[in-house]
Amino acid sequence: MRIVIFGPPGAGKGTQGVRLAEKLNITHLATGDMLRAEVAAGSKLGNLAKQYMDRGDLVPDDVIIGMIRSQLTESDGMVLDGFPRTIAQAKTLDDALEESNTPLDRSIYFNVDRDELVRRLINRATEQGRSDDTPETINRRMDVYDEQTAPVLDYYKTLGKVLEIDGTGTPDEVFDRLLDAVKSGS
Ligand code: AMP
Repeated sequence: MRIVIFGPPGAGKGTQGVRLAEKLNITHLATGDMLRAEVAAGSKLGNLAKQYMDRGDLVPDDVIIGMIRSQLTESDGMVLDGFPRTIAQAKTLDDALEESNTPLDRSIYFNVDRDELVRRLINRATEQGRSDDTPETINRRMDVYDEQTAPVLDYYKTLGKVLEIDGTGTPDEVFDRLLDAVKSGS
């Protein structure tokens, strides 16, 4: 199964993505995690990406696509988390999946209002100390989401491929809704 989970920063993609991939026994591909691993390793890609991440900006498409392209079609199934975030990335994903004749099965959008997102991100800053969870960066990431990533949701909606779930409530409640969406496909 190939599933994209989609939503603004703080919507719960990471938490739910890990759980879903485990449950379905498929790969969890999270570009944010891949980038943080590169930053921690001090690689050239990591050093470049860090400058964008610390500002709350998106890492350029060519860097992201170069990093993830070969993995898009490698596994039998995957949960994509945090990718695609731009129309160019969505088109790359479409092309890759079309080439390998392995279409997306689901694209699931987590709906959470902005006040709740900001609350969660501020909380996460205290708990995890992520360097991009400062108040200025949080606002910037929300704006970047509205400007560059929300159009990707519209793109998938046009293709009639999006299932929307309520992303509020406890992680268990959200996970139940997510599983229902994955199973029903409606
Ligand atoms: P995340 O963990 O998904 O919230 O990602 C953290 C940061 O990594 C984002 O704010 C971006 O700077 C960068 N990032 C992650 N995924 C992407 C992507 N698909 N395209 C561009 N930048 C990304």
